[in-house]
Amino acid sequence: MKPTGWILAGALASACGAAYGDGYGVKSGNPQIPGVPYEVHDGTRPQPPIITTGGAVSVKAPSDAKVLFDGTSLDAWTNGGGPAKWVIKDGALVASPPGDLSTKESFGAVQLHFEWRLPAGRKVDGQSGGNSGVFLMGLYEIQVLQSHNNKTYPDGQATGLYGQLPPLVNATSPQGEWQSYDIAFEPPVYEGEKVVKPAKVTVLHNGVFTQHGELFLGPTQHKKLATYPAQHPLTGPIKLQWHGDPMEYRNMWIRPLGERDKGPAEPQK
Ligand code: MG
Repeated sequence: MKPTGWILAGALASACGAAYGDGYGVKSGNPQIPGVPYEVHDGTRPQPPIITTGGAVSVKAPSDAKVLFDGTSLDAWTNGGGPAKWVIKDGALVASPPGDLSTKESFGAVQLHFEWRLPAGRKVDGQSGGNSGVFLMGLYEIQVLQSHNNKTYPDGQATGLYGQLPPLVNATSPQGEWQSYDIAFEPPVYEGEKVVKPAKVTVLHNGVFTQHGELFLGPTQHKKLATYPAQHPLTGPIKLQWHGDPMEYRNMWIRPLGERDKGPAEPQK
């Protein structure tokens, strides 16, 4: 009887794996994250509560924003220094081969708005099928993942600080619907080779705070514990991740966050 039991247990485990996506419900075996009893990509970390939102909050670019994508042009972007190869389809920027898309311009502290969706009908399973991401300074990933009705390790869910911190809630819309991210980001501050203020981020997903003044452990890593390097750039590009899935983006704009009491850089009318 015992062997039958083991075979059944194995069959059930593999069935659960197929149903719930990679990593859900199991320890990862990756390094422990400081301050919490969880590992990097820990499938036993509590799943964020699922909430329903009003969907995308579409905010028009204010006058001081730089428009990164308005539905018509890839002028702001490059694939590895060459021409931008991602596809524009019906006013949306579609994640495409050959790889990640980066802004030509570099930024430090910013406010970033965009909307995204995964087209309906695509099979999604954990980190597969509906994965992209936005990297601040090209280094710090806020996860873009079709997390509605899709369990995976919590630090890999939508608006997670990938590999570091899950969202406060799962505010992901159903597949096929547009949803919005509003991000405020500050780079780390160094004194010499020492970090005196870690990189900081706040994220609204469909108008809901899912990250509120959270600190990065360091630039994003996969399966490794993030730490700060001794040397760090002051600015970097916004990078959109190509993860093999046709994620769509629209209405993307960015505002460098100015400094208080400095006044406008140029005379205003
Ligand atoms: Mg990603």
